[in-house]
Amino acid sequence: MTSALKPLVLIVEDETDLVTLLRYNLEKEGFRTIAAGDGEEAILLANEQTPHLVLLDLMLPLLSGMEVCRQIRRNTKTRDIPIIMLTARGEEADRVRGLNCGADDYLTKPFSPTELVARIRAVLRRASPGLAEETLRFDDVVMDLAGHRVRRNGRDVHLGPTEFRLLRHFMQHPGRVFSREQLLDVVWGHDVYVEPRTVDVHIRRLRKALNEDDETDLIRTVRSAGYALDVRSPATA
Ligand code: CA
Repeated sequence: MTSALKPLVLIVEDETDLVTLLRYNLEKEGFRTIAAGDGEEAILLANEQTPHLVLLDLMLPLLSGMEVCRQIRRNTKTRDIPIIMLTARGEEADRVRGLNCGADDYLTKPFSPTELVARIRAVLRRASPGLAEETLRFDDVVMDLAGHRVRRNGRDVHLGPTEFRLLRHFMQHPGRVFSREQLLDVVWGHDVYVEPRTVDVHIRRLRKALNEDDETDLIRTVRSAGYALDVRSPATA
């Protein structure tokens, strides 16, 4: 897997030894990691980097894990990021409140690295199917992420880097409609200014590369909303 495809995990924990251990174990398993030592830094990093998952300790300086969880859920940019809460033994009541405030799962300390990685993969699979996989499939399209190759119906499909990223995003979220602005954010990045119209140009190129003569158009245009990867394209477009 190339680094851009590895899921990014934000570790929020004030015990530096545990942070070191967590980073070591997660990076060994193919994740990228960033870390925050207090609640305020956690909010900042979550907003700036939009990680794929947050590992959130409950007891933190400045802002409690519970408050961090609430703020992540309140912000439209971060509200869909899965959160795994880390709790100490005897914090059962907090655990329930943690799940109530929007955490997806929790782990009680001490936990084994194997258990942690299994939980992270399970939560990621639910939240963004395909993210942790190396090969994506949709209908007759196969995307080999490691080899950077796309095939449809057995033939090679040649895509430019932007079309490749667009298709990867669609294949990671089949059936979901994305606005031009959302596609700009995930494919071009937050800091680049690109006209929303540019998305249409690249969608056209993607369609042209992907669809041969009598093949179904897999990209559905949703009027005034955006685009989706969908097999029902011809009937509903
Ligand atoms: Ca702590």
